[in-house]
Amino acid sequence: LDDRDGKIWMDGELVDWRDAKIHVLSHTLHYGCGAFEGVRAYKTDKGTAIFRLREHTERLFNSAKILRMKLPFTVEQVEEAQKQVVRENQLESCYLRPLTWIGSEKLGVSPKGNKIHLMVAAWAWGAYLGEEGLKRGIRVKTSSYTRHHVNITMTQAKAVSNYTNSILANMEATDDGYDEALLLDASGFVSEGAGENLFVIKNGVVYTPDLSAGALNGITRNTIFHICQDLGLKLVEKRITRDEVYIADEAFFTGTAAEVTPIRELDRIEIGIGSRGPITEKIQAAFFDIVNGRNPRYAHWLTLV
Ligand code: PMP
Repeated sequence: LDDRDGKIWMDGELVDWRDAKIHVLSHTLHYGCGAFEGVRAYKTDKGTAIFRLREHTERLFNSAKILRMKLPFTVEQVEEAQKQVVRENQLESCYLRPLTWIGSEKLGVSPKGNKIHLMVAAWAWGAYLGEEGLKRGIRVKTSSYTRHHVNITMTQAKAVSNYTNSILANMEATDDGYDEALLLDASGFVSEGAGENLFVIKNGVVYTPDLSAGALNGITRNTIFHICQDLGLKLVEKRITRDEVYIADEAFFTGTAAEVTPIRELDRIEIGIGSRGPITEKIQAAFFDIVNGRNPRYAHWLTLV
């Protein structure tokens, strides 16, 4: 990913893709305190538009706040940076990655006195869990790793260090032949995927774990809340057990990268009909209509670049 033409926004300037480098003594590289976002832009009839740019940018600032990092930019500047990288790299639809990290002035656990940096990159990235996964559903394994407890590294920050837990869970699941991991919280209740929120459907009602299970407050998750309301589906946030997932009629993951990906199996137990369920299909179609600019009710969620 480092050897290509294009521009990356770094600390207020557009730099050549291959020159967007940091020093090996950067604090974040050693101790893992940093935050990032995952954002997508979609091609719409009116042009390329970033989906829920304000919400993603605000979450980045909130993550930094939780981690006691003071970003040296305003929300407006960071929004403009994101629009700029999509334009400059002439991308029609893409994934965007804003990341904030602590500089290399000194090491030692305390980052006090180190500079806070910010970069934004963008590149084309298709379906995170595969085109086939979007249609047929994926196979998921309950992880042997517990999701972060809410009082460890702070689960409402999209913190760099939180992803070691995600990486371990994802590697374990994929090494065992599954597509993705489902993590449980420290009490054994369902939390989220390695990079996705979870939804299950039972008797026409849509359920998702409440955030006390340590799941990230996903922006796609919130988009699904709106879609459920539009479709007249009851949505309940509650504690969910893994066996409730086994006996659900349908299940799906959501995320900026994963979009709306149906789950057809958990731990080799087929969920419902064992492929994308009918309500999931409706929700998924509504999601793609919104992000691609085909639903005027949500035009305010799309920022043309
Ligand atoms: N949980 C985790 C751990 C994630 O990494 C993501 C992706 N950002 C999500 C949930 C979904 O969040 P969003 O819909 O805002 O992308």
